[in-house]
Amino acid sequence: MTDVVLITGGGRGIGAATAVLLAERGYAVCLTYREQHAAAAEVAAQCLAHGVPVRTVRADVSREGDILGAFDAAAELGTLAALVNNAGIVAPQSRVEDMTGDRIHQVFTINVIGAFLCAREAVRTMSTRNGGTGGAIVNVSSRAAVLGSPGEYVDYAASKGALDTLTTGLAREVAGEGIRVNAVRPGLIETDIHASAGEPGRVGRLAGSVPWGRGGRADEVAAAIAWLLSAEASYVTGAFLDVGGGR
Ligand code: NAP
Repeated sequence: MTDVVLITGGGRGIGAATAVLLAERGYAVCLTYREQHAAAAEVAAQCLAHGVPVRTVRADVSREGDILGAFDAAAELGTLAALVNNAGIVAPQSRVEDMTGDRIHQVFTINVIGAFLCAREAVRTMSTRNGGTGGAIVNVSSRAAVLGSPGEYVDYAASKGALDTLTTGLAREVAGEGIRVNAVRPGLIETDIHASAGEPGRVGRLAGSVPWGRGGRADEVAAAIAWLLSAEASYVTGAFLDVGGGR
């Protein structure tokens, strides 16, 4: 039977690259997006070209009802085997003293609570304790969780720190129930996210600070995610895989 993967924020960037790679590897793909339908439809077409079933769902992870709807859509494809908790945002670069409460709430609502609720639904579905067949979760954290992003977005960095703690705790909580929980921590990756923080050229500006000498590509993060989901990682849980070129 085909394994089903649910990827939040699969319409662009790292989530899109992950969707296409996992389709190539034979997963049925349910990908969600927030508003950019055309981008998600293009990714879906690339997945379909690999001959696997695909569903595209508009679902804002800051809305619990949307998350439940996305899991229902994934269930229509077959048995859920994997969740990639990828949807995430940054707000425009700012010092902490200049951040509004609304901004901080929004970052934590999407990056932490959204990921938490998706993880909850995945466990409800996949846990052998609940009659499921097990599975794997990969949380898309960030090297920012370690570096702190001073002067740019400490709120974002702190949200990824919370995601890391979710990874550690949940991995141990469900280790006896057939579910592995891991995280990737990408570094500076060429995607649209930097433009949404107000600096489209950020990766180029900071590339010199990367020991490997360049920014990363979304497909390089996708490969790490795919490995963590795969049977090759069968004894890996609660782990953090840094994909940052040494930064
Ligand atoms: P991106 O290119 O901006 O794509 C973000 C994706 O998430 C889009 O598909 C977007 O949907 C979706 N999304 C945003 N808010 C959402 C919400 N509330 N509900 C559902 N979907 C939502 O970002 P990216 O760079 O690929 O980032 C993906 C993940 O990697 C994020 O968690 C980010 O924090 C993490 N990360 C990125 C980098 C980097 O350098 N790029 C580094 C470390 C970690 P729409 O297309 O509909 O807007």
